[in-house]
Amino acid sequence: MLRSSLLLASRSAGARKLVESTPLTRPVVERFVAGADVTSAVHATAEVLADGRLVTLDHLGEDTVEESQATDTVEAYLTLLSRLESHGLTEGAEVSVKLSAVGQSLPVDGEKIALENARRICAAAAVVGTTVTLDMEDHTTTDSTLSILRELRVDFPWVGAVLQAYLKRTEQDCRDLAHAGSRVRLCKGAYQEPASVAYQDKHDVDLSYVRCLKVLMEGQGYPMVASHDPRLIAIAAGLASGRSKDSYEFQMLYGIRPEEQRRIASEGNRMRVYVPYGDEWYGYFMRRLAERPANVAFFVRSLLTT
Ligand code: FAD
Repeated sequence: MLRSSLLLASRSAGARKLVESTPLTRPVVERFVAGADVTSAVHATAEVLADGRLVTLDHLGEDTVEESQATDTVEAYLTLLSRLESHGLTEGAEVSVKLSAVGQSLPVDGEKIALENARRICAAAAVVGTTVTLDMEDHTTTDSTLSILRELRVDFPWVGAVLQAYLKRTEQDCRDLAHAGSRVRLCKGAYQEPASVAYQDKHDVDLSYVRCLKVLMEGQGYPMVASHDPRLIAIAAGLASGRSKDSYEFQMLYGIRPEEQRRIASEGNRMRVYVPYGDEWYGYFMRRLAERPANVAFFVRSLLTT
């Protein structure tokens, strides 16, 4: 119930105004978001890399409604990639891109615009020697995102994508993408989805996650296990026991279970942290609140005690 309300609020302009105008929100947001600008993003990247973890950076933004916003997002990624290179950080840091932020949801030619914009980001990533992973948004975008992935992979075969275990289609998508050279980030899924397309029960989502993990770990690709769930992490480690440690990786979000992130990395595993930065933190922040009631309590407490 709380999850649904928060996810509904994450799409509401009124709720957005309310939450964004509360100055006391900021300290809570800072737990999950590295900062507003590229300098903070580079700083957070250097800090995470320093203790042996890897990074994927997300320039926050979604639901772009004008083409100029999409172009600004591309420019932000180009600046980020060049700053990562000038600081010597591209070996351990790549970028994650939400296609809606680069134009996918524009009413005219959205998919075409997003493809061309994503292509510019991929070309810049190739120049500095790093990779790009496409985030996955709500289920209405899955086909379009996978189609853009296929197009991008013609020129940039290292482009990865996210698949969401809560969608009933995902086990088949995992089969389709478990081929050599394919990078797949498997997560549970963070959006409000109807029962016609997504498992609603947490247990069913976990079972689907394990089925998908099996497909990816038995395949020829590069699985990226994106979860904070200790049981799923243990299952993933078991399924990966026949693989070399550099043929898959674990991933978690910035600010969530950082000690566990360091522990996993210290055992010789590749552990990547998803580091979001930028002004457009609202949707991302509300999805993090929705994932865990304790985060809401933390948020409310900070409002009451400051
Ligand atoms: P859960 O069952 O939600 O959590 C397991 C445990 O992890 C909890 O008990 C708690 O201890 C801890 N935990 C989980 N979430 C939080 C939190 N917010 N705050 C504090 N503790 C927490 N979703 C998409 O739909 N599309 C994407 O492109 C996408 N990309 C992602 C990339 C990465 C690297 C990661 C890690 C997640 C991504 N997600 C994405 C989010 C994902 O779908 C889940 O919503 C999120 O990871 C929570 O699921 P969980 O597997 O951690 O399990």
